[in-house]
Amino acid sequence: MYYNSTRNSGVKVSSAEAITQGISAEGGLFVPESIPTLTLDEIKLIGGMSYADRAAYVFSKYLTDFTEAEIRYCTDNAYSTKNFETESIAELAHLFDGTYMLELWHGPTCAFKDMALQILPYFLTTSAKKINLDKKIVILVATSGDTGKAALEGFKDVEGTSIMVFYPEDGVSSMQKRQMKTQEGSNVGVCAIKGNFDDCQNGVKAIFTDSEVKAALESKGMMFSSANSINWGRLVPQVVYYISAYAELVKDGEIALGDKINIVVPTGNFGNILAAYYAKHMGVPVNKLICASNINNVLTDFINTGVYDRNRQFYATVSPSMDILISSNLERLLYLMTGRDDARIREWFGKLASEGRYEVTDDVKAKLTEEFSAGFCDDVQTKAAIRDIYEKYGYTCDTHTAVAVKVYNDYKAATGDTTKTVIASTASPYKFSAAVLEALEGKVSDIDEYDKVDRIAELSKLDIPAALADLRNKPERFCDVIAKSEQKGYVLGKLGI
Ligand SMILES: *Cc1c(COP(=O)(O)O)cnc(C)c1O
Repeated sequence: MYYNSTRNSGVKVSSAEAITQGISAEGGLFVPESIPTLTLDEIKLIGGMSYADRAAYVFSKYLTDFTEAEIRYCTDNAYSTKNFETESIAELAHLFDGTYMLELWHGPTCAFKDMALQILPYFLTTSAKKINLDKKIVILVATSGDTGKAALEGFKDVEGTSIMVFYPEDGVSSMQKRQMKTQEGSNVGVCAIKGNFDDCQNGVKAIFTDSEVKAALESKGMMFSSANSINWGRLVPQVVYYISAYAELVKDGEIALGDKINIVVPTGNFGNILAAYYAKHMGVPVNKLICASNINNVLTDFINTGVYDRNRQFYATVSPSMDILISSNLERLLYLMTGRDDARIREWFGKLASEGRYEVTDDVKAKLTEEFSAGFCDDVQTKAAIRDIYEKYGYTCDTHTAVAVKVYNDYKAATGDTTKTVIASTASPYKFSAAVLEALEGKVSDIDEYDKVDRIAELSKLDIPAALADLRNKPERFCDVIAKSEQKGYVLGKLGI
């Protein structure tokens, strides 16, 4: 299996090269040259395996330049009870009739990003070895909250790597901020940016593609790589849990092999839902992929109209990991939907960069509405959804998951579709304790963050994740705040260039 770039189909690299480079030199994203398929029998077979084995099975289709032993080394290290609080790794909770919560937040940082970022450092260091790269890998991350912490946990003290994380100063929850400021490890750095997530991400992208910076790094025996969801090594682990969930439903007798399901994903950068799209096209029987957004509803409008327009007000919401106006992974979807037309992608994403807007062809619009349904909700509706499923089912979910629940309920009411449905539950409710507690109690509480956690424990009867409980006593190590224009200089300074 080789990988092409969305902005130059002529680029052809191995998975080890795609993973170490992160982003293609001309700014495109790496995409496998074809989508490998699984038969229903294979999916059934997967249901009998441990999560690590399921992952290894799927990776063997994409990372064909890895040996079986190399893949096993990665999966066994990442997906064990050393790192995850449940044996099943991705827990499937039966919420109510025909609706299932795919709980992806039992890892070390309590959000679904762990599913990919626990394995990415192993993919990266294994890839670098395979292609005889004798360079120190420098990871730069722009985060809207959860990626940064998950990447820091994944890479901390991993030999041959160092990691630097940028987050929007006022764009993450206080628990997320505390998680990052207290990060441990000798090869880590964290810095706040006076701006929003897109500012952080644009800064990182610009540094990555800056040839001057690249040359300076090279001369010091270093190279950049990315842990953002633009890295293929981030995306492929996410494909696994959708296949795994389907196999699990068959195994549990909830559906028959071959029955279709809907998948609802609370979406920001479009990585998680793109993974569901890949799972579908590999052979998982899917009816609709439902894209749920908060009030930053650029994707809802795009899927419904075919016009992507980022020229709009940016809102900080109670689901901050979805406060995004440029969804990077959409580029991969459009590359596939245009029949791998790199010229079109250059045109559209060029327009996005210059005018902040592009419109896709009628053919792509038709494909979008055939595969996806999209909706959004505001913060009031998000909190109402948390309260509603708590009262009805005794189940407590976080704010991002609640957006998905609300959008799914709207979808069901509008369409009457009774297809069994998996909702991607992307974070522990403890991670967004202020908004979750406000939703549960119906009022703003002025107790401190940690008392809120204790109060949610009383109400939800959920165990407090060990990693969050420990935060209370950790010292803050990283308190830098810089302007977005200072980002490049900051990185070079920290690297001693
Ligand atoms: C990152 C994140 C999302 C959005 O996922 P994308 O892959 O960016 O679409 C949703 N919920 C939570 C809790 C997240 O951390």
